[in-house]
Amino acid sequence: MSLKYKRILLKLSGESLSSQTADPFDPQIIEQYARDIKGITDLGVEVALVIGGGNIYRGLNESETGIERAHGDYMGMLATMINGMALQAMLEKVGVKTRLQSAIKMEQVAEPYIRRRAMRHLEKGRVVIFGAGTGNPYFTTDTAGSLRAIEIKADVILKGTRVDGIYTADPEKDPTATKYDHITYQECIMKNLKVMDMTAFTLCMENKLPIIVFDMNKPGNLMDVVEGKHVGTLVS
Ligand code: UDP
Repeated sequence: MSLKYKRILLKLSGESLSSQTADPFDPQIIEQYARDIKGITDLGVEVALVIGGGNIYRGLNESETGIERAHGDYMGMLATMINGMALQAMLEKVGVKTRLQSAIKMEQVAEPYIRRRAMRHLEKGRVVIFGAGTGNPYFTTDTAGSLRAIEIKADVILKGTRVDGIYTADPEKDPTATKYDHITYQECIMKNLKVMDMTAFTLCMENKLPIIVFDMNKPGNLMDVVEGKHVGTLVS
């Protein structure tokens, strides 16, 4: 079986871990993700993961919470660690070796982020989960995903979402919206398509890191992406 991508960075939003209920996690969704990730590691794909924290906390809403932005951002980064630990537990349960690395030191639960160590884990077939975002307030986990992907020389960043790609307009609001199979970085900017926040997007563009936006909630999609099948939208 031929693989298009040998080393990937998979970025999942925190919200993707929860269903419509008030609970931060839906164990069934996390298990499906873990099984899909196992499927591609079994083929020899090296997988790094960045997980968001939006299902638990986002720092942005200072006016609503009364918690100052930078402080709230650190809370958001800690939220990504909770998600990382949940994903780690499920991956290990389905038989995948993992390491969790944190951009904020918390040595009882995670290794500190060390680039060369992360790359060594990947070479040994371990899934590396990067938690705590970039470790800095005023950034997002999309930026952490782009940054780590570039650092570890991933072939591609895969942004797993609930929609199956990038559309001409919001498909939930505009029924005439159509999906792009491929789009350039420049077109995304000109058309004001919000694939990621600008910091994250610019990092990818400047470092020629391809982005694939795809529906992670459809079992098997991740496998199709790494095999190079036409799933989602490729930005390059
Ligand atoms: N965050 C941060 N720095 C980072 C990454 C995340 O301050 O490098 C904080 C920020 O408050 C953000 C929250 O963590 O709102 C959760 O991350 P994000 O919103 O990116 O998660 P997602 O939307 O992917 O669930």
